[in-house]
Amino acid sequence: MSLKKEFIKICHMVYEKGFVAATDGNLSQRINYNQALITPSGKNKGELNEDDLLVIDLDGNLIEGKGKISTEVKMHLLAYNSRRDINAVVHAHPVYATAFAAAGRDLTDPVFPEVILTLGKVHLCEYGTPSTEELILPIKKFIDKAWALLLQNHGAVTFGVSLKDAYYKMEKLEHAAKTIFIAEQLGGAKKIPPEKVKQLLSIARSTYGIHPNFELEADENIKLPGVNDEPLYNNEVSYSQIIEDRLRARAGNLNVNPFDVKGRNSISNENRSNLSKSEIDEIIKEFNYKKD
Ligand code: 13P
Ligand code: ZN
Repeated sequence: MSLKKEFIKICHMVYEKGFVAATDGNLSQRINYNQALITPSGKNKGELNEDDLLVIDLDGNLIEGKGKISTEVKMHLLAYNSRRDINAVVHAHPVYATAFAAAGRDLTDPVFPEVILTLGKVHLCEYGTPSTEELILPIKKFIDKAWALLLQNHGAVTFGVSLKDAYYKMEKLEHAAKTIFIAEQLGGAKKIPPEKVKQLLSIARSTYGIHPNFELEADENIKLPGVNDEPLYNNEVSYSQIIEDRLRARAGNLNVNPFDVKGRNSISNENRSNLSKSEIDEIIKEFNYKKD
């Protein structure tokens, strides 16, 4: 599937899942070192097609496409310009997560293991007028560590190593918010005790191949090997997914692992006219700092 096609598929999923109403929400994905695809402003995400997508540079200039760039472009650019491991952003207004944001409540308690591992603590960003610098300032406070944030009186934003990853994080956030809301009708969700959180974090890499970024409280902040000192990259699979996404952007529909020698050869065999081996090597080199 081409990059634009996959992008549109995820826009449709965001709408069909009810994560947005009417023309709400916006999505973007890096397509190369200095450019990203982004949704146009004021369009229903369930009705978008490939021709509606815009290409912008990471200063926010329109490079390709017709239409108005999403009014929340600053939030997307903040993510790309702050973190090189963020390759996609999904902003939506899913009902349960947004209800927490409207009530001024964050989702930082350790309630579900998979949320601890994949989203970390979901902080609440103070209210800021949409589209303005006011919305960005509170996000800046958390951007270094966050994969998901609540925006007070507004909605939620998730960041991913790929668009699918950012979408799944939004789905996971909404599912957790809904379940915690229901647990509250039953007397409230119980927190996982700190020692169990530490145990989970300590096996995250070996068992799940994940480097979680769940911040422990100061008094719990015992150094765990391979947890607190690791960079934020989720796992090797996601890492190679980033490169696959890049390769797809440059060479069309590829479904191979560029880290695998056989995979790399098959890229150059199948797409000799589109993508040379040196180009693949160049893309891989571009990302190699992540592994260091
Ligand atoms: P855009 O239509 O400009 O992307 O804005 C939608 C939105 O959710 C504003 O916060
Ligand atoms: Zn919004």
